[in-house]
Amino acid sequence: MVVLAMKKCPFCAEEIQDAAIVCKHCGRDLPAAAQTPTAPSKKVSTGTGCLIIFLLLLGLGLLGRACGGGGSSTAVDAARELNTNAAQVCKQFVEKRLRAPATAKFQNIFDATVEGGAGDQQDQRTVTSYVDAQNGFGALIRSNYVCVVEHTTGNNFRLIDLKMDDQ
Ligand SMILES: [Zn+2]
Repeated sequence: MVVLAMKKCPFCAEEIQDAAIVCKHCGRDLPAAAQTPTAPSKKVSTGTGCLIIFLLLLGLGLLGRACGGGGSSTAVDAARELNTNAAQVCKQFVEKRLRAPATAKFQNIFDATVEGGAGDQQDQRTVTSYVDAQNGFGALIRSNYVCVVEHTTGNNFRLIDLKMDDQ
């Protein structure tokens, strides 16, 4: 035996089932159930929750990108990322050799030539690029450089060789 929730009809005051929308005694339409007004606000809060989760995921994605983290979906992406990271790391090695690093203007790393990753030197990258910086006399000169780095772990590289024009 199922016990049904009961309510009183507001028109004839007879007992009727809680879920009833028409009174079986007087036949009048009954006011909609009490939960109806709360439904829209429930929907809004669910939407807000989704939005927050979406923003969180977006934030994590950007964070991952900013940190140069993995998460690359394909090997091509991974290789491209390794090239970009190698070019970035070489900039730092070159910067250390400059007389006036603060004046340095590097070629866009995406325009730098990055080669390597062949044979038994899969982790090595040769970056060919240039930097404009002031020399010891304060003159702005361009130095071409060829930088060889080896990928070790994570985003770490070690310098194998760096040849650059005299400053
Ligand atoms: Zn009734």
